Amino acid sequence: MFYNSTRNNDIKVTAAQAISRGISQEGGLFVPESFPQLSLTDLEGLIEKDYINRAKFVLSKYLTDFSTEEIDYCVNGAYEKGKFASDDVAHLVDAGNGINVLELWHGPTCAFKDMALQILPFLLTVSAKKVSDGKTIVILVATSGDTGKAALEGFKDVPGTKIMVFYPEQGVSPMQKLQMTTQEGNNVAVCAIKGNFDDAQTGVKKIFTDNAIGEKLADNNMQFSSANSINWGRLVPQVVYYISAYCDMVKMGKIKMGDKINVVVPTGNFGNILAAYYAKQMGLPIDKLICASNANNVLTDFINTGVYDRNRKFFTTISPSMDILISSNLERLIYHMAGCDSNKISAWMEELSKTGRYTVDGDIKAQIGSQFAAGYCDDEQTKQTIKEMFDAGYLCDTHTAVAVKVYKDYVAQTNDNTPTVIASTASPYKFSASVLEAIYGDTADMSEFEKVDKLFELSSLEVPKSLKELQGKDIRFVNCCDKQDMEKFVLDTLLEK
Ligand SMILES: *Cc1c(COP(=O)(O)O)cnc(C)c1O
Repeated sequence: MFYNSTRNNDIKVTAAQAISRGISQEGGLFVPESFPQLSLTDLEGLIEKDYINRAKFVLSKYLTDFSTEEIDYCVNGAYEKGKFASDDVAHLVDAGNGINVLELWHGPTCAFKDMALQILPFLLTVSAKKVSDGKTIVILVATSGDTGKAALEGFKDVPGTKIMVFYPEQGVSPMQKLQMTTQEGNNVAVCAIKGNFDDAQTGVKKIFTDNAIGEKLADNNMQFSSANSINWGRLVPQVVYYISAYCDMVKMGKIKMGDKINVVVPTGNFGNILAAYYAKQMGLPIDKLICASNANNVLTDFINTGVYDRNRKFFTTISPSMDILISSNLERLIYHMAGCDSNKISAWMEELSKTGRYTVDGDIKAQIGSQFAAGYCDDEQTKQTIKEMFDAGYLCDTHTAVAVKVYKDYVAQTNDNTPTVIASTASPYKFSASVLEAIYGDTADMSEFEKVDKLFELSSLEVPKSLKELQGKDIRFVNCCDKQDMEKFVLDTLLEK
């Protein structure tokens, strides 16, 4: 199986090349040239398997240049017993009222990013061995909060790698910030920027594709790669848990093999929901993919109108990991829907970077309309939903609450009662202030860890060990730079040491 670039169909690379490069040199994203097909018999065969063996099966369909031993090594290393607080790794919970919640946050940093970022360092180092002859891989990350920590934790002290993370100074929760600024490891660096997530992401993409910087790195036997969801190695592990969740729905007797389900995903950079779309393209019986946004509702408008327009106010919300106006992975979706016409995609992406908007063709809009639904909600509705869920016996975080609210609206509008899986993307303890305000009231005079304690007292939901341990930990990283100085920070950090 080979991979093409969304902006140049003549580029054809192996999975190892796609993963070690992260992004194609002309700025395109790597996509599989076709989708391996899953039969119902394949799915039957996965039902009695555990997560590790489901993952091995799915990944082997895409990483065809990896040997069985290499895939075993990567999957075992990422998901072995003890790495995730839940034995089934991606835990499906019945939260009542027909809501099945896929808890993707039992990994070491308590966000769904761990699902991919625990395995990415293995995929990347195996890939680098195949293609980049001993160069040190330098991971650059732009984060809206969760990716940064999950990537740092995945790559810390991994031989042959260095990692640098940029986050928006004002755009992450106190717990997220503390997780990053206290990061351990000898190959890590963290820097805040004066700007928002889009600024961080744009800065990182620019550094990646700058030939002069690339040459400087090559002179020092280094090479950039990406741990953001633009990297194929981030997306492919995410396909696994949708397939796994479907198997669990069958196993729990909620559906029969072959029945369709709907999937709801709280969305920012469009990576998580794109993985669900890929699972559907492989033949997983998914009917609607429901894209949930917060007040930054650029995707809701795009899915409903076919016009992508980022020229709008940017809101800082209580679901900060979705505070994004440029959803990178949408490029992959429209590439597939445009019949892999890379010229068309290049033109639209050029328009996006010049004018901040583009309009897809009518037939793409129609395809999107038949496969996707979209909605959004504001912070007040998010909090109200947390309260409703809590009263019904389930405590969820702000991002998951956005998905639940959008799902409830969708059902009210359509009467579509197809069994549904809602992706739950973070532990409520990562966003204690907002969650506690929703179910308890004003928290202004409480410290972050008093909020955690109060939330535990009210909910009895166990506090993840990795968050508890942050209390009193030394702060290592206090840098904050202007967005135009990201390049300087990267070069200084890499070349001075
Ligand atoms: C990253 C993140 C999202 C958004 O996921 P995308 O793949 O960027 O769409 C949603 N919720 C949480 C908690 C996240 O960390």
